Amino acid sequence: MVSVAEAADIIFSNLYKPAVESVPLQNSVNRVLAEKIIADRDFPPFDRVSMDGIAIQFRQWEIGQKEFVIEFTQAAGDEQKKLLNPEHCVEVMTGAMLPQQTDTVIRYEDLEITNKRARLKIEKLELGQNVHRKGLDCKQHDVLLTPGILLSPAEVALLASVGKIKVDVFQLPKTAIISSGDELVDVGVIPKAFQIRRSNTYAIEAAMHSMSWKATQFHFPDDKEILLNSLRTVLNNYDVLILSGGVSKGKFDYIPAVFEELGVRKLFHQVNQRPGKPFWFGASNEGKIIFALPGNPVSTYMCFYRYIKPWISKSMGIDVPGISATLSSDFSFAPTLTYFLQVAVKSELGKLSAYPEAGGGSGDFVNLKNVTGFLELPADQTAFSAGEIFPYFPFRNLV
Ligand code: AMP
Ligand code: MG
Repeated sequence: MVSVAEAADIIFSNLYKPAVESVPLQNSVNRVLAEKIIADRDFPPFDRVSMDGIAIQFRQWEIGQKEFVIEFTQAAGDEQKKLLNPEHCVEVMTGAMLPQQTDTVIRYEDLEITNKRARLKIEKLELGQNVHRKGLDCKQHDVLLTPGILLSPAEVALLASVGKIKVDVFQLPKTAIISSGDELVDVGVIPKAFQIRRSNTYAIEAAMHSMSWKATQFHFPDDKEILLNSLRTVLNNYDVLILSGGVSKGKFDYIPAVFEELGVRKLFHQVNQRPGKPFWFGASNEGKIIFALPGNPVSTYMCFYRYIKPWISKSMGIDVPGISATLSSDFSFAPTLTYFLQVAVKSELGKLSAYPEAGGGSGDFVNLKNVTGFLELPADQTAFSAGEIFPYFPFRNLV
C-alpha cells in the first residue's frame, strides 16, 4: 500500500507524452496550446479612438478654445485622414484611427453639436483621453501565449486576432473507459432486482469533457477469460485505460491478476485513502497507462479528480496550481487513512469556506449532487478543527 502522496508521485512520474495536432480555431477552446503565439502587430495596431465623439488638438483647448468646427468624419474602417486646420475638429467613431494632427477625443456626451460646430460642455480635459495608444497592450513580436495553456474564450480571441485559422494543440491520448461487473446493465435497460445501471463510465466520460478529452466506453463481465481477451485487445488499441470495478478483494475481482498476465507492470495497488483504497495503477512496456479504480461510484469519482485529471493536465504541460479551502466546522475521522471529505465550498469574504457534506460512504453517489469537491484530510490527524486549511479538489466551478 502506498500513501496518497506516493500514489500521486508515481502517477505524475508516468506522464503521457502527447503528439501535436492542428485544429480549426473554432475547435480550440478547452484544448491545450502546443505552440508559442507571437503578436503579429502591436495591440492595438494604431492609435484607436475609444469613444464616439470628436478629436481635437489638446493645445487648442489649453489656449482657451471651447468650440470647434467639424472638418470631416473619421469612421472605423477608414484610412487615417489628416486634420488640416488645428482650430477644427474631426468627428470620430470608436474603432477609428485617430486622425493625424489630433491627440485627444471628447465623447458625444460631453458635447453640444449644432450646425457642424461642436461645443464642449465640460471644464476638464486630459491630453490623450479616449485614445487607446498603439502598442499599449502589447508590442509586435511579443510572446502572447506559450504552450501548456488550457485555451479559454479569452485566448481564442487572441488567436483570432493574430490570424490563427488553425491552432497547434496537444493531442489527447486514445482512451478507453471500462466498467466490469455482472450486476451492471446499460442505461437504456430496465434493471432486474439484483442489477443496477452502470453510471461510472458515463461520469468519467463527462468529467473528461471539460478538457475535450474523448473516450470509448466498454463493459466486460466478471469472467477471467473474457477479461483477459478483451483487455488484451483494448490494450493493443488504446493509449490509456481507465477502469472502474474489479480491483478489490472480492472473489470475482480479476482485474489486477489479468493485467499481470497481460504483462502490465503494477506500479501500485492500494492507496492509504478513503474512499478509493483498492486503486490499482500500472503501465505496459509500450507506455500504455492503466488506471484501475474501485467501482464504488464516489471512489471512482474522487480518484478521477485527485489523480487522473491532474495527470492529464501535467502531461500536457499545464501548470496545475494547488487550491486550498478552510474547513468551516469541526470534523473527526479516526482511521489512519487520508480522508477525502466531501464538501460544499462557498466563497465567503474572499476565502473558500468548505462545509462538510460527508455523505453515506463510497456507494452514496446521490450525495455528490450536494458537493462541489473534496478536502484532503491527512492520515496522521484524527480531529480537524474549523478554521484549518486543507487542499481542495473541485468537481465543479462555484456559481
Ligand atoms: P467493485 O469495485 O467491482 O467491487 O464494485 C464496488 C461497487 O461499485 C459495487 O456495488 C458495484 O456494483 C459498484 N459499481 C461498480 N462499477 C460501477 C459502475 N460502472 N457504475 C455504478 N456502480 C458501479
Ligand atoms: Mg465488481
